[in-house]
Amino acid sequence: MQSDNDTIVAPATAPGGALAVIRLSGPGALAVCDCLFRGRTPVAGAPSHTLHYGRIVERTGPDGTAETEEGERTVDDAVVAVFRAPHSYTGEETAEISCHGSPYIVSEILRLAIGAGARMARPGEFTQRAFLAGRMDLSQAEAVADLIASSTRTSHALASTQMRGGYSSALRQLRDRLVGLMSLLELELDFSEEDVEFADRGELCDTMRDIGAELDRLRDSFLLGNALKRGVAVAIAGAPNAGKSTLLNRLLGEERALVSEIPGTTRDTIEATLVIDGVLFRFIDTAGVRATDDRLEQMGIERTRAAVARAQIVVRLVDAARFAETGSVPEAVTAPPRSTGKAEAPHGQRILTVANKMDLHPGLALPEGILPLSARSGEGIERLRHALRNAVDTEALGHGDPVVSSARHYEALVAARTALGQALDGLDRGLPTDLLGEELRTVLHHLGTITGEITSDEILTTIFSKFCIGK
Ligand code: GDP
Repeated sequence: MQSDNDTIVAPATAPGGALAVIRLSGPGALAVCDCLFRGRTPVAGAPSHTLHYGRIVERTGPDGTAETEEGERTVDDAVVAVFRAPHSYTGEETAEISCHGSPYIVSEILRLAIGAGARMARPGEFTQRAFLAGRMDLSQAEAVADLIASSTRTSHALASTQMRGGYSSALRQLRDRLVGLMSLLELELDFSEEDVEFADRGELCDTMRDIGAELDRLRDSFLLGNALKRGVAVAIAGAPNAGKSTLLNRLLGEERALVSEIPGTTRDTIEATLVIDGVLFRFIDTAGVRATDDRLEQMGIERTRAAVARAQIVVRLVDAARFAETGSVPEAVTAPPRSTGKAEAPHGQRILTVANKMDLHPGLALPEGILPLSARSGEGIERLRHALRNAVDTEALGHGDPVVSSARHYEALVAARTALGQALDGLDRGLPTDLLGEELRTVLHHLGTITGEITSDEILTTIFSKFCIGK
């Protein structure tokens, strides 16, 4: 895909603010700006990274409307920021007009810019141009959209590391090592008649295993990355009347789930989100699991089982009375969560067992590792919040290690790892040098799709069409 030579324009801010920013980018950006902006001097001659105060005007005819000054109607006062190629976000000539946030003023400026030769930018077109100009790689461009969408400290840290190139440099190192291996193999092919092995098979194997371990690490980090981006799924499971809805309300601090004395009233799964110490959690309230003839309730139960099986954390709520009665650990606490077979529990699922209604059993001693709680009074809720937060290991983020959060990257890493596995197998079986090289080329190919060295117009269009206008 090639950038066209059009000058593009779009609002970069959402309606409703006191100020608005309109961006112009492309070879004619400054000339277009000069058609509608009157500062002390034309911006076309301005140095990069300068600000210019002036008026946005529309040229009017001799019988122009009111408020004219030398045949020009003033639309607004504005400040224009000038960035000269290649020192701009897109790498092109760029002007950013800051004006008052009136939707009318914004639409007038867009109309005037289009009248002067610009065209409306497509969603993500500024970032797409930045990518095509080599200002950033594809994974960094994608992180720009993630950064704009980030709403928690951890999703922000994730996008920020990726945008600043932490992930790209990890991939580049892998790539360089692979290219090194391949050039050794190619050298061998060049001298194939002489039957020499330039690449020591043992060393080759070690390096490939090293690369495999790093690919494994990146691939597996998706579990955390995806959870931080979309929210860590938490299922609150337990017998009817254990207090699941009450707990959810208590956690959320609002009347979200229906609480009732009649067992089986929470028919549907309810999802609600909550941020605890910078991590987004998605709570799935679950219908009371029990034998029933009611079809609707039955469906709710099936959904619950699937949600519990998929959840990263299961809060298993047990009525404290069960501990008081038996004095031992109830079966519900030790039984593994039911799986439907369709939705397997992801590895690393954490289970937090909580004894609820402790207010009714003052002084009851619980077995170790079981959290006491009164969902009704709120006693013990802070400890549960801590336990939830501690169940998500975000240490990798703190170290600035790249964490994969894009499904597209995850798939590419899985494919790269598979190809590397085949290359390692090949090495074991004494695969001919040229075929070994082929396998390694496949690994490189998949890694290249992440950073965008290898890409198609179709992929780029899909990626950038998900961006907002003006970015
Ligand atoms: P669910 O069926 O598991 O969703 O249970 P609910 O949240 O609907 O609660 C069932 C009943 O237990 C309601 O009457 C709640 O008020 C009550 N309940 C829930 N938590 C507590 C608690 O910590 N202490 C006491 N005493 N009652 C509770």
